[in-house]
Amino acid sequence: MEFTAFNLHPQVAAGVRGAGYTTPTPIQAQAIPPVMAGRDVMGLAQTGTGKTAAFVLPILHRLMAGERGRVRALIIAPTRELAEQIHQSVQTLGLKTRLRSVTVYGGVGVNPQVQKLRAGAEVVVACPGRLLDHINQGTIDLSHLEVLVLDEADQMFDMGFLPDIRRILKHLPARRQTLLFSATMPPDIRTLAHDILSDPVTVQVGNVAPAVTVTHALYPVEQHLKTPLLLELLRHTDTESVLVFTRTKHRAKRLGEQLEKAGYRAASLQGNLSQNRRQAALDGFRDGTFQILVATDIAARGIDVSQVSHVINYDIPDTAEAYIHRIGRTGRAARSGDAFTMVTRDDAAMVRTIERTLNATLERRIMDGFDYSVQAPKKDTEFARPPRQPMPGRKPAGKPGAAKVGKDDARQRHQPGHGARTAGAPSGHRGRQSRRTGN
Ligand code: AMP
Repeated sequence: MEFTAFNLHPQVAAGVRGAGYTTPTPIQAQAIPPVMAGRDVMGLAQTGTGKTAAFVLPILHRLMAGERGRVRALIIAPTRELAEQIHQSVQTLGLKTRLRSVTVYGGVGVNPQVQKLRAGAEVVVACPGRLLDHINQGTIDLSHLEVLVLDEADQMFDMGFLPDIRRILKHLPARRQTLLFSATMPPDIRTLAHDILSDPVTVQVGNVAPAVTVTHALYPVEQHLKTPLLLELLRHTDTESVLVFTRTKHRAKRLGEQLEKAGYRAASLQGNLSQNRRQAALDGFRDGTFQILVATDIAARGIDVSQVSHVINYDIPDTAEAYIHRIGRTGRAARSGDAFTMVTRDDAAMVRTIERTLNATLERRIMDGFDYSVQAPKKDTEFARPPRQPMPGRKPAGKPGAAKVGKDDARQRHQPGHGARTAGAPSGHRGRQSRRTGN
């Protein structure tokens, strides 16, 4: 299928060509026709599937006809980063349309937003809190709204935005087209969808399975050896850009510092950062200044990191959905990515849940040459000081050429059948058999 099949307005089609898209992704193929036909749509898709263009393109097509200078499409997203990303998509895909998009979110000055809204825009991309402020201050006119999009609705729910969303809805024209996108369908989102969508078409991609190009592997390890194992993994893997997930903000900060000390270009992203520092970390990760970004689930929401080569779960996530959401960041739009998860004995139940959800058995890997027998120190078991390790870039003793290995070499080192030990037998995991990825 080609984009030409949609008969998009020529100026919108020009934007598609400019973005370099030739073939619609599955969510685009499914969602664009009903959205163009004016239907309400419930889209079950996660970031990385091309869902943004799935709603942006039909919106731009619709807005080509009709009045300019009024807000006719409103897209609500949970985070500033996602709002920015959607706004960028509108700019790129709408480059030839002369349609204007304005972002509305907190943490930055109100006045520039008010000025841009006054100057006239057809599309507003907003986070709920600041949008409500503008509604309450009378600085936004939504009386001509034709299309509403709620993107990543489950994240908005997780972040406590549903009451704000319901307040916003009261100020919107009842006669409108509504699109709701969500990676998962918790009961509150199902209720919201039932309340606000009228006779919706449901489109879904990939059940809850992550992008197929991702290679998953589990690294069984004791808690106190996670940091040294991470350093070893990084040393032996040709990683371009790595997103590391931790369970808590405190760990993210501390691990970021430890990686920096170990000589990596690393930054951490936690909720406590000022907007400037957060932006600096994100920009640095995007432009390659930082090779590693350590983050919690919440802090990492909405990051557009299409170039992420590896996701490393320093801590296993709390739910299978969160696992898929994290992993969804690698392997976007046909790039391949690797996802490594460190697992302790306590994580066994969650591993089973994830494997059941993916309907696959994840491969267990043992890091060759890593000393799994180091005992936990008496104090601070969570962040045991790593055993003395050579700095990255230096030649480690006894491992000629191992400081930087190519991807293929790294694969050989880690993968079964290529010299890596794969029987699951680090201390605490004795007797577990190595298993290959099931699909
Ligand atoms: P999204 O799921 O909307 O965050 O999109 C994920 C990535 O895929 C973004 O970097 C998009 O620019 C890219 N993308 C979206 N649609 C297509 C397409 N049809 N062909 C190639 N890349 C695409």
